[in-house]
Amino acid sequence: MSEERSEEHPAPPPGRAAGPAGPTSGTGTGTGTGTGTDESVVLEAEGVSKHFPVRRGARALLGGERRAVHAVDDVSLRLRRGSVTALVGESGSGKSTVARLLAQLHPATAGEIRLDGRPVRAGRGRAFRAYCRHVQLIFQDPFASLNPVHTVRYHLTRALRIHGRAGSGAAELEKALAALLERVQLTPASRYLDAFPHELSGGQRQRVAIARAMAADPRVLLADEPVSMLDVSIRLGVLNLLRDLKERLDLAILYITHDIASARYFADETLVMYAGRMVEGGDSETVTQRPAHPYTRLLLASAPDPDRVTGSSGDGGTGEGGEGGGDPADPSASEPPSLISPPDGCRFHPRCPLAMERCRDRTPPRFDLDGGQWAACWLYDTSPDVPAPGDARTAGTGRGAAS
Ligand code: SF4
Repeated sequence: MSEERSEEHPAPPPGRAAGPAGPTSGTGTGTGTGTGTDESVVLEAEGVSKHFPVRRGARALLGGERRAVHAVDDVSLRLRRGSVTALVGESGSGKSTVARLLAQLHPATAGEIRLDGRPVRAGRGRAFRAYCRHVQLIFQDPFASLNPVHTVRYHLTRALRIHGRAGSGAAELEKALAALLERVQLTPASRYLDAFPHELSGGQRQRVAIARAMAADPRVLLADEPVSMLDVSIRLGVLNLLRDLKERLDLAILYITHDIASARYFADETLVMYAGRMVEGGDSETVTQRPAHPYTRLLLASAPDPDRVTGSSGDGGTGEGGEGGGDPADPSASEPPSLISPPDGCRFHPRCPLAMERCRDRTPPRFDLDGGQWAACWLYDTSPDVPAPGDARTAGTGRGAAS
């Protein structure tokens, strides 16, 4: 049964003050995390949505209606030079679709993507190749992203030629190949250049995939779960390599992961996605140590983190005791919603132990908190536009609610 919560007295999670001044723009791009000025922004998305039409066969099963998978809705983010932005969420939350939209592999249904402040719609052919010189995508699976019948030399030479960086002769090409492998710490180059992918370890393959992306000399790397397929013992090495590239080459990196603990270690800024929408953002230390959104708290509660204080305080694993927070919903007891017919209002409301009546039918905008943190949650609404006491009801939500 749901815990009763009065609509006019919403209680933010423990240790968090409600937001000071109402919502920010629903499509605002600034996360205000202090990682740089506007001039440092290389790639940004504003109000971007992606809906995939349901195929005819599946549509017939759904009663013949024209329906769509709402993979991404109204997503805004900024990637800055020399900074890593983590995009965190469960499987199916839309994070990889965001990466593909930014890489121009899918056209957006709505919204705008800008490179250096200018709108982009790369399409295919020459315009797409020109865009790829600036923005490169690293895939999750290093086993699938390299063609097994070709050597490392083939993969890297092809990438250098496509982007016009192979030099004018054999000697220059050899030099460029060696420099690429050195950049990803695969040395001596002669040991790897003529190897086939199956002769390399998973970590070495992912380094080759990163070297191939670096062949374009990009300014933005979109790393889609770059270490999730790797052995735990070598993940740190690949993340350290990406961090080194960021610092030496002033790269903007989008780090997509379901592992919020690694976001704290690796990313300057962390954004949290749930069911196709952004729900929280801020600098990584704040988001992971003082999460504002109930979903972020749930993610953290289910992630191993030796630095987080846990105990019998019933604080949901945030290390912050206090009243009124409630326990986060048990992730094993509830699942994300269907994106074909996502819930109205806050998409997290069927699982949220703090849900209120308005959460069911009003989508929460972003509310600014301290230090550049923000959360899309009605708990932080301090505007006078709050229902009268007589309207106060609990949401009566589903099985994920606190009981
Ligand atoms: S249902 Fe959504 S808006 Fe309402 S309290 Fe929970 S997270 Fe916040």
